[in-house]
Amino acid sequence: MNAVRDNPPGARRARQAEVAKRIGASLPAAAVLVDREALKPYECDGLSAYRETPLVATLPADEAEAAAVLAVARATGTPVVARGSGTGLSGGALPLADGILLSLAKFSRVLSVDAASRLARVQPGVTNLRISQHVAPLGLYYAPDPSSQIACSIGGNVAENSGGVHCLKYGLTVHNVARVRALTIEGDSLALGSEALDAPGYDLLALATGSEGLLAITVEVTVKLLPKPETAQVVMASFASVEHAGEAVAQVIGAGIVPAGLEMMDRLATRAVEEFVHAGYDLEAEAILLAESDGTREEVAEEVARMSEVMRAAGATEIRVSSSEAERLRFWSGRKAAFPAVGRISPDYYCIDGSIPRGALAQVLTRTGEMSKKYGLRCANVFHAGDGNLHPLILYDANIPGELERTEAFAAELLELCIEVGGTITGEHGVGVEKINQMCSQFAPAELAQFHAVKAAFDPDGLLNPGKMVPTLHRCAEYGAMRVKGGALPHPELPRF
Ligand SMILES: Cc1cc2nc3c(=O)[nH]c(=O)nc-3n(C[C@H](O)[C@H](O)[C@H](O)COP(=O)(O)OP(=O)(O)OC[C@H]3O[C@@H](n4cnc5c(N)ncnc54)[C@H](O)[C@@H]3O)c2cc1C
Repeated sequence: MNAVRDNPPGARRARQAEVAKRIGASLPAAAVLVDREALKPYECDGLSAYRETPLVATLPADEAEAAAVLAVARATGTPVVARGSGTGLSGGALPLADGILLSLAKFSRVLSVDAASRLARVQPGVTNLRISQHVAPLGLYYAPDPSSQIACSIGGNVAENSGGVHCLKYGLTVHNVARVRALTIEGDSLALGSEALDAPGYDLLALATGSEGLLAITVEVTVKLLPKPETAQVVMASFASVEHAGEAVAQVIGAGIVPAGLEMMDRLATRAVEEFVHAGYDLEAEAILLAESDGTREEVAEEVARMSEVMRAAGATEIRVSSSEAERLRFWSGRKAAFPAVGRISPDYYCIDGSIPRGALAQVLTRTGEMSKKYGLRCANVFHAGDGNLHPLILYDANIPGELERTEAFAAELLELCIEVGGTITGEHGVGVEKINQMCSQFAPAELAQFHAVKAAFDPDGLLNPGKMVPTLHRCAEYGAMRVKGGALPHPELPRF
């Protein structure tokens, strides 16, 4: 179904005109978009299989304008979807046909840096990488580093509780944010968290982090900064099978080593990457591990030696250690470019984001290979192995009838497997619309009822990003019945391209 509306039916057009006019009373005309062409860039996020045209897109430039948009939404009962950079991979920023798209792109200023307290106050539209670039002259950086860091916004990172290569040692977004200021749909301005080590009462900052735009709109983020380590080196180890590499990950962590990053790529991924960025990977290996050590020169030398020893004992067929900063960056360049590289060898790919206990890595990788054969779809593995955060990339062609459906069934079976082995259906990309069915498997009805209660406390009329992340209990009952019969429940009324 193509949901783009060239000529909105009369009722929709009238509603669009009314909402746009009301918002236009507080925002300049150029910041209120209604034309089809102007709305096109907002149709989807990084999960481009699903698209929708919003009723109106708005680009407020400050908090007063953002609050005005929310006031119109409240007064007219119009849903609102917040959007940072639109790099999300679970459809969190997918617009609603009858909703306002609220872009935070103009909130792009670094407001202040306190080097002594190692804190920076930034607006939500500032990109992740820009924070580190901004504070680099002070010898500081912001640790969480999603591979999309050049583009994704800190507001999006907070909403998804994003991770990255260095989160194994330094924690996810939730561990690296001190305070968030947010606007509720009711018009209140909330300060969540504090610049002190702890804050009394419920931890509303943690609650807001990972809430996918369902509770409030983030308008300011205070991030924690770290001093740049003196040095860093990468160990690149080759393995004869993904299972051996998975086992080596468990051994490294089991030995008490916490690398700054511990990533895995299988052969399909390294081959795609090598043609794209020439990172110097071993193309004969079935899988490689990239393990980073950072700290003082002595700490790094010792940790690199220990990691190499453990990996050799776990069956590594070759080990290389970066001998210069340029080589370290070259090794990482391949990992960071892996998604676009895979995009070059397949018309479409679907990125899954399950999280499992590290001890189950070998088992789950074997089962993934079996599913790949069962569904007749190639699958490249590129992931945060140290965190047990899988990113199987299923390669498919949306133009071949039935391939997207088979891809979805493959993804659903894999996510159910993650739950079965004691893991979760997302490690960092969020639930959005993509994994909403699997929330029914992950949580019991009583737990989902608490999710709904939290949502209602912040957003009683359910206007912020409705239909995302938290499934209705009715939907879960349907999903349960379908699974018993062995069927699959399609995503909720999602228009596909
Ligand atoms: C190539 C590629 C690599 C990636 N690698 C990683 C990775 O390594 N680690 C990782 O964690 N993710 C990764 N991602 C996913 C994505 O980049 C992250 O989820 C990122 O945090 C999304 O930020 P964004 O600004 O693009 O948010 P958007 O996609 O615009 O929005 C994401 C969600 O946040 C909400 N939101 C956005 N801004 C606000 C706000 N100000 N207030 C309230 N809600 C808001 C939206 O409603 C939506 O639900 C990758 C994506 C791509 C395309």
